[in-house]
Amino acid sequence: MSKSSLLEHSALMSTYGRFPIEIVKGKGSYVWDAAGTQYLDFTSGIATCNLGHVPEGVKDKLHDQVETLWHCSNLYHIPSQEQLAQKLIELSCFDKAFFCNSGAEANEAAIKLARRYANKVKKTEAFNIVTFQHSFHGRTMATLSATGQEKIHDGFDPLLKGFHYLPYNDFTALDQLSGKQTCAVLLELVQGEGGVNPADPEWVKALEKKCHAEGIFLMVDEIQTGVGRTGTLFAYEQYGIEPDVMTLAKGLGSGFPIGAMLAKEEAAKGFTPGSHGSTFGGNPLATTAGVATLEAIVEADLIPHAKEMGTYLKNVLEKLKETYPEHILEIKGKGLLVGVVTAQPAIDIVNKAREEQHLLILTAGPQVIRILPPLNTTSIEIDAFVQAFAKVLQSL
Ligand SMILES: *Cc1c(COP(=O)(O)O)cnc(C)c1O
Repeated sequence: MSKSSLLEHSALMSTYGRFPIEIVKGKGSYVWDAAGTQYLDFTSGIATCNLGHVPEGVKDKLHDQVETLWHCSNLYHIPSQEQLAQKLIELSCFDKAFFCNSGAEANEAAIKLARRYANKVKKTEAFNIVTFQHSFHGRTMATLSATGQEKIHDGFDPLLKGFHYLPYNDFTALDQLSGKQTCAVLLELVQGEGGVNPADPEWVKALEKKCHAEGIFLMVDEIQTGVGRTGTLFAYEQYGIEPDVMTLAKGLGSGFPIGAMLAKEEAAKGFTPGSHGSTFGGNPLATTAGVATLEAIVEADLIPHAKEMGTYLKNVLEKLKETYPEHILEIKGKGLLVGVVTAQPAIDIVNKAREEQHLLILTAGPQVIRILPPLNTTSIEIDAFVQAFAKVLQSL
């Protein structure tokens, strides 16, 4: 099929409003479309290609694994799965790992673990899961029920029972948390899809305290914030908390589909053989990509670099805000998860950036632009981005 007919007569269900370009190749911070046009990609496949596109180390290890073993099921021990679990546990405050294939599945696993722990280990009636307004936790029935956004619920009633949404960063709302009904709180430390909203550190501390007092699991959804995105390997490190459960996906496999749910020893008791599973979860290819990704981040000492680049990006954006106060209202975010609040609809700016400057950026709600460069981006790339972005603002 020719390019235009492919884009006009797609056999795909219309679950996404896709932009009219076909991406056929990627390397580092750049992608190319079918016509050969090069784009600076500051979306990283939505915080997924954290090492840039087709990173050498991960590529080589995947090649080796493709030659060796693709799949064998979880009825047997898989060395790369054990290795990835071990690495994640060494690099975090958690003790046990469960692997799946996506972010939604990681949150499903967390929700199931919390409910089963309350039911089987604590033997209580508490099954409510509390999440927050403007949160995003996925698209399966349980995780869309967990998501605190009407537009994600629309048309899918009845939602799953037992999900409640509290206002984010609201101290008084914490009074509503009771261990009698609630078994877990699920929290994004920086709301990604909901507008790049960082949690207030004092509030997170208060939330942790309340959860401990009430015997409620504190579960952090680090599917977007994890794997170096916010300037530490995991965002919770910056908040001085130790959650009971953490979910990961996006950045963990450098683009290879993988999800993970990590838990403290005690919380992990919620699952026993037969209580949860996944055919593909922790598959040799996926966990090889995960191990190689973490090794590459540690070997290249990428976290401090990403933090520095995040500060650099924020500073140049603040300068741009001074030049264009009529277009840019606020810069927010953490590390390389950066939001720009715009006066105009964010989607118009995203479209102009792509069409006129060959620059790929994202929205996070109607008036927030989300910028997610790979962790190994450079100040040269950031300068190129800001120059192009300035031209877009100038032409508004
Ligand atoms: C992307 C995302 C999810 C869902 O992940 P999928 O892999 O699309 O299922 C869940 N939570 C957060 C915070 C996310 O950013």
